[in-house]
Amino acid sequence: MSENCTHDCSSCKENCSSRDPKSLIKKPHKKSKIKKVIAVVSGKGGVGKSMTTAMLAASANSKGLFTAVMDADISGPSIPKMFGIKDHAMGGEDGILPVESKYGVKVMSMNVLLDNEDDPVVWRGALIAGTVTQFWTDVVWGEVDYMFVDMPPGTGDVPLTVFQSLPIDGIVIVTTPQDLVGMIVGKAVKMARMMNVPILGIVENMSYLQCPDCGRKLSVFGESSVDALALEYGIPAVAKVPIDQQLTKCADLGKIEELNENYLLNFFDKINDSLK
Ligand code: ADP
Repeated sequence: MSENCTHDCSSCKENCSSRDPKSLIKKPHKKSKIKKVIAVVSGKGGVGKSMTTAMLAASANSKGLFTAVMDADISGPSIPKMFGIKDHAMGGEDGILPVESKYGVKVMSMNVLLDNEDDPVVWRGALIAGTVTQFWTDVVWGEVDYMFVDMPPGTGDVPLTVFQSLPIDGIVIVTTPQDLVGMIVGKAVKMARMMNVPILGIVENMSYLQCPDCGRKLSVFGESSVDALALEYGIPAVAKVPIDQQLTKCADLGKIEELNENYLLNFFDKINDSLK
């Protein structure tokens, strides 16, 4: 990287290593053929990033696409639970095999490697980042049309390594109405731009609560401003996901693939179209 790096390759004439972000990209396992990789990011934890990842994977899988989820949220993994996965990952002749959900979504997560799923991972960033990279290089993913990467929240060490090491086709940003008015989304947008990764869509989670009696939509966490924001940043796909007990219940019971209503089906279609 140049001494005078502005992190904006479009306005810089230096010919340095960061100009080609693909230079640090690692090769996947020789028996993995992964067509598209989408990273799901959020500015902070608890906004529904894993929920969004799981719903997107369930959407892709329900359309007959070979689907995988890499749970890069090493210190707060929640993907296996949402898919009802209790098995441990097994080692094969060639490497580690992902665990498959009831409907065939392939999952790799720290939780399927730990002896007890409630064991904490008390590791420094570099080790965590190395583990995520190994999820890409050492796991035998096989044929995959869509891999969704559940990123750790924020813009720290691990997301940076993932962006640099994996050939990410685009990102989906998850936020709540509260964060939209703050700077959190702006930071995620800027990080994606610095890494030259397209932003495919934005999900406003916990966007509203629909009254079961009168059907009125209540803006529990403030008025939605996601459409204006998507326009401002030129983000093509937008989804508004309500606070819905069905989502919490299915996630807790490991039945995210059996939702009555998956709010991200159309959103996934848009993303799929934009990547064709
Ligand atoms: P993150 O990955 O951003 O930390 P999670 O996806 O784990 O957040 O969600 C945090 C909690 O909120 C989980 O218990 C999840 O089931 C619940 N949750 C997320 N989104 C919704 C929603 N739209 N309606 C109801 N519960 C939700």
